[in-house]
Amino acid sequence: MNPFSLSGQTALVTGANTGIGQAIAAAMARAGAHVIAAGRSSCAETVALTGGEELTLDFADPMAARDVFSGRTIDILVNNAGIIRRADSVEFTEEDWDAVMDVNLKAVFFTAQAFAKAALARGADAKIVNIASLLSFQGGIRVPSYTASKHGVAGITKLLANEWAAKGINVNAIAPGYIETNNTEALRADPDRNKSILDRIPAGRWGRADDIGEAAVFLSSPAAAYIHGAVLNVDGGWLAR
Ligand code: NAP
Repeated sequence: MNPFSLSGQTALVTGANTGIGQAIAAAMARAGAHVIAAGRSSCAETVALTGGEELTLDFADPMAARDVFSGRTIDILVNNAGIIRRADSVEFTEEDWDAVMDVNLKAVFFTAQAFAKAALARGADAKIVNIASLLSFQGGIRVPSYTASKHGVAGITKLLANEWAAKGINVNAIAPGYIETNNTEALRADPDRNKSILDRIPAGRWGRADDIGEAAVFLSSPAAAYIHGAVLNVDGGWLAR
């Protein structure tokens, strides 16, 4: 058996229409998984890449996934969907606080809960991979709700691992560094910010969404059977600096 294979597994990836989520979906399919690409926007492009299926899921309602996992077998959940709002903390609005916390943290917890209920009822092994951030460890600037939510993701990853590790569910997270996606378009478009970020990355380049995809396959595979509650930095060395 290839311990890195996902053959015979079904994986649901949230926010799979673009960016890191799309790359995770594609990597999972290359590893042999059947992929359910979930999103609020059409995931047709991802379905064309993976040969899987799509599912509409909008975390404007953070409980949106409550009924998704009953009645079918899904072995792997990747909580990837996320948003960011930037403003000085002195001006930051309640709307920007709540919108980010709902998608990035509340939806992550309650989607994991719904997934785990179904897996525990089946008595089956399962894997959860949450997408955290460098701002699960660092403070950032002008992104208070994003930083709070991503610190929260790291925390609940460990909490859920503690509760579910002995029950056959691995809960881990990936902390991506600076990755070329829509999320970081504004940073890359600013020549000064772009240069200061690049100068600090030991690998000397922005990350690619595929870098995260392959790490997600690893954490979802039998090779990661004894990994619980880890937050894996995939950041070109940023946090080692
Ligand atoms: P992205 O290209 O902006 O993708 C974000 C994804 O989340 C999109 O699929 C988006 O759908 C989806 N999403 C947003 N709101 C949603 C909602 N209400 N319901 C369902 N889906 C929703 O950004 P990305 O860089 O790939 O981000 C993916 C994850 O990685 C996020 O959790 C982000 O915080 C994290 N991350 C990214 C970086 C980076 O450098 N790029 C670094 C650290 C962590 P739409 O396309 O419809 O908006």
